Amino acid sequence: MAGNYLIIGSGPAGITAAENIRNLDNKGEITVVSEERVPMFYRPRIPEYAVGKLEVEEIMVKKMDFYDQNRITLRLGIRAVKLDNERKIVETSDGQRYGYDKLLIATGIVPLKPSVPGVELKGIFTMHDLIQADRVRAFAREAKPVVVVGGGLLGMDMAEELKRIGLGVKFLVRRHVLGDPFFDEYGCKLIQEEFTLLGVDVLTDTEIQAFEGMDSKLAKIVATDRKQIESSFCFLSIGAVPAVNWLEESGLKIDKGVLVDGRLQSSEECIFSAGNSAQITDTVSKKQIVQTNWYNASTQGRIAGSNMTGGEPIEYKATTNYLKKVGNLSFNLIGCGNAIVEVGRRTYFKGDNPREYVMITTKEGVIVGAVVCGLPKVSMKLKEVIEKQIVITNLEKFITQKEGKLDTLLKILA
Ligand SMILES: Cc1cc2nc3c(=O)[nH]c(=O)nc-3n(C[C@H](O)[C@H](O)[C@H](O)COP(=O)(O)OP(=O)(O)OC[C@H]3O[C@@H](n4cnc5c(N)ncnc54)[C@H](O)[C@@H]3O)c2cc1C
Repeated sequence: MAGNYLIIGSGPAGITAAENIRNLDNKGEITVVSEERVPMFYRPRIPEYAVGKLEVEEIMVKKMDFYDQNRITLRLGIRAVKLDNERKIVETSDGQRYGYDKLLIATGIVPLKPSVPGVELKGIFTMHDLIQADRVRAFAREAKPVVVVGGGLLGMDMAEELKRIGLGVKFLVRRHVLGDPFFDEYGCKLIQEEFTLLGVDVLTDTEIQAFEGMDSKLAKIVATDRKQIESSFCFLSIGAVPAVNWLEESGLKIDKGVLVDGRLQSSEECIFSAGNSAQITDTVSKKQIVQTNWYNASTQGRIAGSNMTGGEPIEYKATTNYLKKVGNLSFNLIGCGNAIVEVGRRTYFKGDNPREYVMITTKEGVIVGAVVCGLPKVSMKLKEVIEKQIVITNLEKFITQKEGKLDTLLKILA
């Protein structure tokens, strides 16, 4: 043991890995290089920071003495620009070179921008890190109406938060229904109700076609059917891709993200990847996917860290578990959730409260995915059942109908 560990990225994957390496290797050197301007923070709450509701200190995950106590050297505000995997060196934006025995790539994702005219105009934002959030925060303060583009999970957060600080919000969604394909039909209906209550103007079946401006500032958005929306503030959330373009010449096997095996090891023996930059084989769907949520990123970080120290190999088998708050609703999207099951039988389980329900998807007699609204205990149990592919005797008997009672599901899971 006692190696030289280099970690690129200071999100949950990188920092959980660092913490676990220190648990297992008391003498090794651990260095974390990250482009972020502050240490690890709870990224899901970045929209609340961006609208000025929370300060940076309120979203920090670890106190500064955590890094000192664990002898983790942080190099912040620095970007890894090149990996020379033969010489085991990472070059950074400040001209430094970092050597390593073991390297973890935990660089997360970068937001996409649409390739339409005018996308570089001032007043158009994407957001993933705090520097981008600072820019949104400064702009949002001037209280203009805003257009949020993209009905994904981040788009929903920003539409909600910007509305809550009093801005007029138009929410442009490409799909026919808000919430699709992440949530099931009933979940989408509840979400739509939340946004209606909030007073957000949701425009479905609407895509961006061009941005028009004056003096290099955004003035107008042109959408489907030549719909024209006057606005000087636009927040884009049309998707993201793993932040791996700096690895292009490294020789590492990359598809969407860094391809890793069950131990989160890349095509190079001493290089691992975890979190949103890694492409893993999903334990349920057997597809190679990037799991873009907090829980899976930190679980992967813990396992990668352990495997980097060279102890007993640990396999990563966690299924996706995306925790999502939309207004007053709390969802868990588990396993194949709603989004990636092509074939499967869906059954709803509802109780007295119409805003609490479970939708499970079954395939060949086992549960492969679930959308849970409220009911955190049921979520935990379903996660276990899905992850371990636990066979439930007589499952078919309970799911012959489209809808069942919540009590019945609790009995099935007991
Ligand atoms: C606005 C928002 C809302 C979200 N809401 C939820 C939610 O409700 N529930 C949920 O489960 N998940 C949510 N997520 C997703 C969750 O935050 C991520 O899945 C998680 O942070 C991924 O962790 P990670 O460690 O893989 O990457 P990240 O947390 O993205 O960290 C990667 C780090 O690497 C740095 N980096 C990137 N490239 C380089 C480079 N070349 N050199 C150096 N450093 C680099 C980045 O600056 C960043 O600090 C949300 C994300 C966002 C952005």
